Amino acid sequence: MSYCYAGVKYKTQKIGEDLPDNPRLDNLIYWCKIFHEKGLAPPYEGGSYGNLSFRLRNKEDIFIITASHSGLADSTTNDRFVTVSGVDLKKCIVSYAGSRKPSSEAMVHYAVYHARPYVQAVFHGHCDKISKNAERLGIPITSKEEPYGTIALVNRVMEILGDSNFLEMRNHGFLALGTTMDETGNLALDFLKKC
Ligand SMILES: [Zn+2]
Repeated sequence: MSYCYAGVKYKTQKIGEDLPDNPRLDNLIYWCKIFHEKGLAPPYEGGSYGNLSFRLRNKEDIFIITASHSGLADSTTNDRFVTVSGVDLKKCIVSYAGSRKPSSEAMVHYAVYHARPYVQAVFHGHCDKISKNAERLGIPITSKEEPYGTIALVNRVMEILGDSNFLEMRNHGFLALGTTMDETGNLALDFLKKC
């Protein structure tokens, strides 16, 4: 499976200003805080290395995700999140609603939801400890490093996704998936503990 030209980062198409409004957003905010506190998404000036999302409705690949260039420690209000309503993986266009742009890895999140209908949450973080121990812990690792935010990265993840709920993107960071946000977040914490 291969989509649009590998080097191109995605374009965005804003379809509305509406901020995400969903009772489960509180749970996502909680996990943003935990990821920040546990060092699973280290901060940089103006943001965090990591992005978290949950599926909005069953059987639809629509999700709420952290906004681009938004620190997870500051992700406490709904303007720090956007609703991704669709992704065209052939044209690399991410359609969204909100006041900010979606996270740079929105295409990876979309591809995972699309491939795995039972997955309700996708959390991406950067953790040196987990990266260093990935092989020893039996975590699937993508075959090659690819630039963030690209379809090439999406394709590498799809190559190894299978039924895995935890995988490592080579020289980048991890992806945790689960049927609830708590399951997903706790899976990342479990791997951190094993390091
Ligand atoms: Zn990343």
